[in-house]
Amino acid sequence: MPESPYEMLPVDDALEIVLAHAEPLPAETISIHDALGMILAEDAVASTPLPPFPASVKDGYAVVAADGPGVYPVIGQITAGQMADFRVESGSVAYITTGAPLPDGADAVIQVEDTEPLSADDGQARVRILSRAAPGQDVRPVGMDVAAGTRVLSAGDLLGPAEIGLLATTGIVNAQVFRRPRVAILSTGDELREPGEKLAPGQIWDSNRATLGAAVRQAGGVSIDLGISGDTQAALEANVHRVLAEADILLTSGGVSMGELDLIKPLLEEAGTVHFGRMRMKPGKPLTFATVPVQEKGCERTRLVFGLPGNPVSSLVTFYLMGVPALRRLAGHFNPRLQRVQAHLAQPLRLDPERPEYHRAALHWDSDLNDGRGGYLAVSTGSQASSRLLSMRTANALLELPQAEGELAVGAVVWALVIG
Ligand code: AMP
Ligand code: MG
Repeated sequence: MPESPYEMLPVDDALEIVLAHAEPLPAETISIHDALGMILAEDAVASTPLPPFPASVKDGYAVVAADGPGVYPVIGQITAGQMADFRVESGSVAYITTGAPLPDGADAVIQVEDTEPLSADDGQARVRILSRAAPGQDVRPVGMDVAAGTRVLSAGDLLGPAEIGLLATTGIVNAQVFRRPRVAILSTGDELREPGEKLAPGQIWDSNRATLGAAVRQAGGVSIDLGISGDTQAALEANVHRVLAEADILLTSGGVSMGELDLIKPLLEEAGTVHFGRMRMKPGKPLTFATVPVQEKGCERTRLVFGLPGNPVSSLVTFYLMGVPALRRLAGHFNPRLQRVQAHLAQPLRLDPERPEYHRAALHWDSDLNDGRGGYLAVSTGSQASSRLLSMRTANALLELPQAEGELAVGAVVWALVIG
């Protein structure tokens, strides 16, 4: 068998190369309601304090703290959203609800639980105040939650529910964020048919497009479906050039190993620069990474192309290892790498003497591990054949098994890359 001309790169070196070619995409302005999971491209500063007025923390009575316990006339009421049109003088109180502005003159709130309403025989409402308040009790002063001028978020922050709420509470409705990467996905192979179509002998349903499309969206990208391309140079070439005009990343699957119909590598050599064509790992050794320069609005930009192996597990694992960090970097993530945790093996695992292996496993928290301090237990998904997509089912981690003879025993501790 002819030897591949491509050097087999360690996975870490391959990832460095990929990240060195990945830059955050230009920022765009979008509604905060569409910004979940995106990365903020500018600081967000509060222009007004929160609360903007001294606000009651309780339902109760606005009082002059120095007055102390006793019976007082209730001279009015203030509910949230209204300003009092009266002053609370010493010797009087006003009914107030949570979030309402404290009226002038008052300097504390007595919660309703510490009061007793009295009957208003003469038409004047009165209340018995039972406790003594310190000045400022149960009042949020102006700017207590957010002082004016506070930087509530920084460029580079990931927008989750709380961060989107902080933008809203600061009055920001449109935010500058890094654009979501557009990722085009093409399956290659004469044997592939659309799922559900009638299969002729020798044909199979294309599962990689469905899998990769979902993985792209899960990682925060926008997936573009390019369908299936046959194994001919012309069909592939037309597809690749068409898509690079509009997609930031192109994922192809299939056609990168050493067979005669493996046309992706030569095509990418032609269109741009192939940075590597093999990785020292399994599953997914023939992963190919290339960059292709394109003109976009008068600027030269670099498109990233991942020629993923065709086997369903290989394509998904290599997408997690290389594609997800690249996508995250384009999307503006400060740390684009997958999270790594330590895990204890639930069963012995045989090692591969030739290549490190990314063994699919389900991590569960087990409170008995580490002498009762707890830790992750890694349960293998079973047979690790690279064609067996069932080995990814329920997997939330890829165990980094070293290249070595023999096996790791039950309880051995390994690094695990979190994928779900
Ligand atoms: P290749 O990398 O093209 O040599 O394909 C390796 C194996 O993966 C072959 O058994 C293919 O039939 C299978 N394969 C390739 N592409 C897909 C796909 N999109 N969906 C499911 N299986 C595929
Ligand atoms: Mg093929």
